Amino acid sequence: MNVAVISWGREGKAVYDLLSRNKQYKVVCVVEENSEKWNDEECAPWIVSSGRAVCMFEEGKIEYFIVPSMAEAQNYRVIKMLEVYHINIDNLLYASAESLWNTTLSDEERISMINSYKLCNELDAMEIHVAEHCNLNCKNCSMFCGLVKKEAYPDYNEFEKGIILLKKYFQHVKIFRIIGGEPLLNKDLDKYIYKIRDIYPYTDIRLISNGILVKQMSDKLIKAVKECHVTFIVTQYAALKGSIDEIKMFLVEKGITNIVTEVVTEFQKIYNASGNSNIDENFYRCHWKGSCATMYGTQIATCFVPFVIHYLSDQFNLGILETGKIDLEENGLTTQEIRRRMHTPFDLCRYCAPKGDWVTWERIKNKKEMALVDWSI
Ligand code: SF4
Ligand code: SF4
Repeated sequence: MNVAVISWGREGKAVYDLLSRNKQYKVVCVVEENSEKWNDEECAPWIVSSGRAVCMFEEGKIEYFIVPSMAEAQNYRVIKMLEVYHINIDNLLYASAESLWNTTLSDEERISMINSYKLCNELDAMEIHVAEHCNLNCKNCSMFCGLVKKEAYPDYNEFEKGIILLKKYFQHVKIFRIIGGEPLLNKDLDKYIYKIRDIYPYTDIRLISNGILVKQMSDKLIKAVKECHVTFIVTQYAALKGSIDEIKMFLVEKGITNIVTEVVTEFQKIYNASGNSNIDENFYRCHWKGSCATMYGTQIATCFVPFVIHYLSDQFNLGILETGKIDLEENGLTTQEIRRRMHTPFDLCRYCAPKGDWVTWERIKNKKEMALVDWSI
């Protein structure tokens, strides 16, 4: 079967190498627009532009385009590009992360995992909140940490049950973010990290912290972060001004892969507590849907809002219903049905304000004086 492999990055090379060792697929060309990569001697004779590849497809020289599992934005771009060329999705094959990277399997087993793009059962992103509360308490925190009245952690056993169920529906999650509240407040954080790596061996695990507790990280946590190849991301707030250099140095000295963000200067008010926003408009404009898919125990949602809105609702007696949750234990649930629901607007979207006001970042000064306007447009 004559195919074109899309992209000449790490993933494209992996699928190219795999197919080159077997006769089932004949790689006619590799589609790569980045002209620098055309100098790669290993593949230079077969690299063509997407336009040329589409012409070859129209001439019958290519039957399928093979898209490897890449970062979410790259896969999205490739699919959009093929749409522009009117390539039908039936002519797309997907090489899953498992087929690319699981070298414990035979080539035949890995190649048999290359399937119709429509059957792709990988998820772009998933987040878990390992602490609901935070030691920084920013005004306008979209997780409502300032409204969490006492320490709140998830039940580890429920999380374990949830992630095992999630694997039933999605073989691979491209990015797995561990967030909070402040995740370093959770003394069992290492257990969460090991479990995620165990269930999703190829996922990009990112731990997002405000950095305050970095220097108090236990040896077992540091070990877990390094052994599981976690990227430690410190969101830099002005409150860290006297300690950020030491935090960075600590992470470097411990050999932890890390990113320190630019200083956060503004927060966006993303809620509209009056609930009179247009649901469909909000949903289709929303950039959190999917990219901030969240799991709490055995439930997931396309974003974090269904799991945190109760803090706002309870604090100000708003009676907001927690719609948008998907129960992974539901009878008859399928991967396609989960995807459908994750791409369908739901009632809670009317409480969002994706184009909400930007306000200067600051900490909550006095929890007793918080008003609805501190969280909502
Ligand atoms: S540091 Fe992050 S989680 Fe904590 S209150 Fe601020 S925005 Fe929320
Ligand atoms: S509730 Fe709807 S609009 Fe709000 S963040 Fe979630 S998906 Fe987006």
